[in-house]
Amino acid sequence: MVKKKKVRKGNRNAPKRRSLAAPALKAKAAAEKKRIISTLKEKLEGIYASVDLSTVCCRQCVCCNVACPQMNYSEFLNVLDKIYKSVTHAEKVRILKLCVRYYLSNSLVKPCPLLIGKECIAYAERPLSCRMYGLWPSEMYERRVERFSKVSEMDKKEIPLNTQCSHVRRANTDVPLTEEEIEDLFIQLDILDGIIGDFTPEAIKKKHNYRTFHDWFMVKVFGEQRLSDLSNYFLAVEEEKDLEDFVDQMCIQIDKVGEKFFVEE
Ligand code: SF4
Ligand code: SF4
Repeated sequence: MVKKKKVRKGNRNAPKRRSLAAPALKAKAAAEKKRIISTLKEKLEGIYASVDLSTVCCRQCVCCNVACPQMNYSEFLNVLDKIYKSVTHAEKVRILKLCVRYYLSNSLVKPCPLLIGKECIAYAERPLSCRMYGLWPSEMYERRVERFSKVSEMDKKEIPLNTQCSHVRRANTDVPLTEEEIEDLFIQLDILDGIIGDFTPEAIKKKHNYRTFHDWFMVKVFGEQRLSDLSNYFLAVEEEKDLEDFVDQMCIQIDKVGEKFFVEE
């Protein structure tokens, strides 16, 4: 019987591929993440700088004490990177607990979680809507408030920051921003989200890539599924006291196991 010759797949002279050890893989992933984040930061800075948004603003943060505006996904990642790099563990825990309270709250006033005293801890990374407050053409701002009022079924007068701050003006010119300039800035952010996030054009059209900081942080820490469970609980719970107890319990758990929430992948 003729023995079948074993056929080796591939080129026998090719150098053997060595698999990377786990620490090396981890270091490679960390380096890649650093590269993506620094590119993202540069890209965002490029977008923000494409129109002169510098303002005369006292930075007393009256507005920040009322609410944090919605932000694009890429902006959230940039802010998050800043937080992970620059604040203490205790501060991260404080921010997360506040985000839980906001997520499970009907209160209309939710001071920005990134505010410590009167200082924004991510001022250099603040999202476009923070940069824009006070600079919107009034009709455009009015339309935004109308839209929000429709979606949230809230009276316009009840919506926090339903008018713009009158103490802000452009630092280098008196010429108002145009609607086209503003739309272009948001389109650039959407394009960036489409590249780095898992968003279809349809999802972007529906603004799934645009949320408040506390919503994004909750998604990051708990994932979409658990967040949806939390939303269902929030909608179903009848007694305010039960909700408060539930939130307190969540905060106790976060204090206990907070460390594990802030491990960077
Ligand atoms: S936008 Fe107005 S309210 Fe907000 S920090 Fe500036 S001056 Fe204060
Ligand atoms: S991100 Fe900063 S500037 Fe924007 S609302 Fe929060 S504290 Fe204010």
